[in-house]
Amino acid sequence: MDNRRNFIKKSGLALTALSLPFPGALFPKQKRKLGVALVGLGNYSTNLLAPALQKTGYCELRGIVTGSPGKIPQWQRKYGIKDSNIYNYEDMHRIADNDDIDVIYIVLPNSMHAKYAIIAANAGKHVWCEKPMAPTAEECLQIIAACNKNQVKLSIGYRMQHEKNTQTIMKWGDTKAFGSIQKVDSAAGFYGTDLGWRLEEEMGGGAMYDMGVYCLNAARYATGMEPVAVSATHTTNRPQLFDEVDETTLFTLNLPLGITANCRTSFGENLNNLEIKCENGWYHLRPFQAYSGVKGKTSKGTVLEAFGKNQQAVQMDDDALAIIYNKPVMVPGEEGLRDIRIVEKIYESAFRNGQTLSL
Ligand code: NAD
Repeated sequence: MDNRRNFIKKSGLALTALSLPFPGALFPKQKRKLGVALVGLGNYSTNLLAPALQKTGYCELRGIVTGSPGKIPQWQRKYGIKDSNIYNYEDMHRIADNDDIDVIYIVLPNSMHAKYAIIAANAGKHVWCEKPMAPTAEECLQIIAACNKNQVKLSIGYRMQHEKNTQTIMKWGDTKAFGSIQKVDSAAGFYGTDLGWRLEEEMGGGAMYDMGVYCLNAARYATGMEPVAVSATHTTNRPQLFDEVDETTLFTLNLPLGITANCRTSFGENLNNLEIKCENGWYHLRPFQAYSGVKGKTSKGTVLEAFGKNQQAVQMDDDALAIIYNKPVMVPGEEGLRDIRIVEKIYESAFRNGQTLSL
């Protein structure tokens, strides 16, 4: 193996590049963008990530990993993917020998993230892994260890942390722009009828894993604080459908300084709200986790206008630049792990009829 990957990863390029306006100045012309391979060609890859990759400045969709051969011709036609850059789940490890691919993006059902993220890391490729990182903290730790061992970067697909209005309210939390935060309310959900693997416990299904992590991550990024205790309950209006996983989960996070975050997530309701009450006012983002149009208001009358850029393109360019310049990624594996440690406690609390559990 050559190579440019090792060159970027291990050479002094990172330091040298920091002083350059554009990393391409040091790259061979045809290799100015990082080659990305998507693993799992379901809804998110097909309808969001692949189109977004066309809008990035530093990435290029060069490979696919799929268990559905029938999907290949269309992807090749649409994105000009070479035969030599097409893999299935069994031969994906062979990407190790493919210098076209720099990054492997895991976009599979949640319970499959760890296995394929580890294969990707062991192939020596940088790993982007969708949220939730994995169903258990143990698996998250395994992904982090594999990436560390192989000296590759790991980013979790929490796109909101790359979004401009979200970054504004994160800053307000830091600077106490409205005084100290007193209370957070966060709700994320949609009315789902065709939920597929999201209804299966074995696949890492359930509203908490799928949508609840938006509320949880938001409570953490908005306050910059880590919860010290949690309590949770599950409810369902469709018990026949939700016989394995949660349809609706209500959870309360106890944050330091007596701050509470009241969160609600559901596959049975359309919910999209993040509201922060502070000593001297309030602000909210509504919607706060939509693919576009995240916008908000404050008690001072400030309007946070929707940001025009493609969220996933911004996310992937941020993550690509961290690789190119060898800088820390915005949303590392440890961030995914922190959420999953809390999610495990949320499920445990709901199992114990809402008992408050320390973290
Ligand atoms: P999906 O069901 O549309 O796609 C899943 C893909 O995995 C399909 O191509 C399917 O063929 C493949 N697959 C392989 N083995 C499978 C198996 N045993 N069972 C079921 N499918 C199997 O799901 P999706 O909505 O694309 O979600 C994929 C991942 O992306 C999830 O982790 C999800 O949380 C995440 N996601 C993130 C966002 C975001 O905004 N960051 C949005 C949607 C989904």
